[in-house]
Amino acid sequence: MINYDEPLFRPPGEGRSAIIQATIGCSWNKCAFCEMYSSKDFKIRSIDKLKKEIKVLSRLYKGKSRKVFIADGDAFVMSADKLLAILDEINESFGNLQRISAYAMPKQVISKTDQELIKLKEAGLKLLYIGIETGDDELLELVNKGETFSSTVKGIQKAHEAGIDTSIMIINGLGGKKYSTQHAINSAKVINMINPKFLSTLTLSLPFGYEHFKERFRGDYVQQTIVELFIELKMFIENLNVENVIYRSNHVSNNLLLSGTLSRDRKKLIEQIDEAISLTPDDVMPSSSTIL
Ligand code: SF4
Repeated sequence: MINYDEPLFRPPGEGRSAIIQATIGCSWNKCAFCEMYSSKDFKIRSIDKLKKEIKVLSRLYKGKSRKVFIADGDAFVMSADKLLAILDEINESFGNLQRISAYAMPKQVISKTDQELIKLKEAGLKLLYIGIETGDDELLELVNKGETFSSTVKGIQKAHEAGIDTSIMIINGLGGKKYSTQHAINSAKVINMINPKFLSTLTLSLPFGYEHFKERFRGDYVQQTIVELFIELKMFIENLNVENVIYRSNHVSNNLLLSGTLSRDRKKLIEQIDEAISLTPDDVMPSSSTIL
């Protein structure tokens, strides 16, 4: 039995994975739109405690899952040495795994050397989930993401060069009405430069409400209607020029479920969005209560 420090988050694709909670919270914890870890003070857990939990989890998941996810927020903030010690223990206890994955920020990838990244990949860390949220520099600053277009591209390309795949998240509606066009165009631009293995779009959700987010947003935020969110999403997809990217819009926050391989399925995805636009009244606002 593992006593997780709640709330515990993992990407939809890790629903069946064993979860090792190597860090508590997020070391950055300042993004205006994110309340995931606002109740937690960041800390890195001791390797001795983790080793015991890894042994317990390997027994619980024996024959049930070949995937391990390292939580919390940006577990990749740990030093390469510490990550390698955790990966070694996971490999020894679990045996033959399909993959080990974690959340990461581009700057945490940049902080590691090429050799360290290659060693991490060889130890089974095959996938990093990176919420880049937008490719627009102005919007990255307004939501206090702590990254830029160029740090995002640099970090993700560095991971890819080491053989580590990425799963990238973009937030539909992040900038509201005013920044919608630049958000869509520059987010497509960043995706075109990195060509990730997986791409997903979430929709901005405001668990503490519109006013709370407005106070944290450093610009002029005006909430979009659902139709305006669809138009922004369509513009984003229209501007993508990528190869073999597995795209999903299957998060609980989304008003429209989409899936396909880009760019092969782009036309079909755009038709689905057009249909949703035609069926949705112009003035319907999204729910603000979905938890990220
Ligand atoms: S979005 Fe990611 S980096 Fe930003 S506060 Fe939330 S967990 Fe941390």
